[in-house]
Amino acid sequence: MSENIERIKCLIIGSGPAGYTAAIYAARADLNPVMYTGLEPGGQLTTTTEVDNFPGYPEGVDGTALTEDLKKQAVRFDTDVRFGLVTKVEFSDTPGGIHKITVDDKINIEAETVIISTGATAKYLGLESEERLKGGGVSACATCDGFFYRGQDVLVVGGGDTAAEEATFLAKLCTKVTLLVRRDEMRASKAMQHRVANTPNLEVLYNTELEEILGESVVEGARVVNNQTGEKKEIPVTGVFIAIGHKPNTDLFKGILEMDETGYLITKGKSTKTNKPGVFAAGDVQDKEYRQAVTAAGTGCMAALDAERYLASLE
Ligand code: NDP
Repeated sequence: MSENIERIKCLIIGSGPAGYTAAIYAARADLNPVMYTGLEPGGQLTTTTEVDNFPGYPEGVDGTALTEDLKKQAVRFDTDVRFGLVTKVEFSDTPGGIHKITVDDKINIEAETVIISTGATAKYLGLESEERLKGGGVSACATCDGFFYRGQDVLVVGGGDTAAEEATFLAKLCTKVTLLVRRDEMRASKAMQHRVANTPNLEVLYNTELEEILGESVVEGARVVNNQTGEKKEIPVTGVFIAIGHKPNTDLFKGILEMDETGYLITKGKSTKTNKPGVFAAGDVQDKEYRQAVTAAGTGCMAALDAERYLASLE
């Protein structure tokens, strides 16, 4: 049995900016990291078009190209990047204990440290037109894509803090923003609701849902329906931002790692330490507040440093 089990110092689960940055630092610290990419290598960055706010790219960079650059840098320092999905974890409770990980239900790995950077997934409504027009005017990230809609009319769906924040952010760039809220009130904090109310070029349509996004290959408008009266109308917009929340990719860790009520992993203080010694979390999987590529990269760096210091403390 034991000949089938690979023993490593550092396993990184997930391949977004957090995972790759952790890999760069862990590799340079001689932790010989092995990364399993998950089924969508590169994560959320690969679903955006241009990334204009990652420092170091003055002309902006395509999301997939940025991921490829991060990967090249990690591989340059001999990170072992493998395609595969972690399907089971057994984390030790003892400092210095070995963590057991199964990949694709068949590969067994024993790791001294584990860095979890499995990210989060933006929720979408599930409309066929929404899926078809992703990258053609449908986005789940105003901070990433809002700039492309300067001087245009856009629509935002959602009633929480994210929707309020995205709508007010977009209102600074766009001519007009329409915010669709499905109930007769917003879930967002009062402060955010005030900000929405005080933004003149932002119109809120309550009790209103998005029925269809119009356009063949790019967004040309949206058909919305009032769920109280049944009244439908078409709004001409070139961008549709879905802001109905994110789901952290933590199902695998339920009952094993401490998470908040919405499933985000809890890390201790300013560190990336989880409640299991030698298991660290970086990026969106533990951050519902900032969710930026650069903040994910920052916490990826922290996780590798935490892993390195943890191993040193055992010696
Ligand atoms: P939330 O879960 O708080 O809100 C989601 C919103 O989307 C709700 O208004 C919900 O409506 C609506 N919604 C869900 N599904 C649909 C659907 N199918 N159709 C239409 N509307 C839908 O998610 P957020 O991302 O807004 O926030 C997540 C967490 O992060 C919160 O705790 C928030 O406070 C925090 N946050 C804080 C920020 C800040 O403080 N600056 C910024 C961003 C987030 P309904 O209300 O009817 O359920």
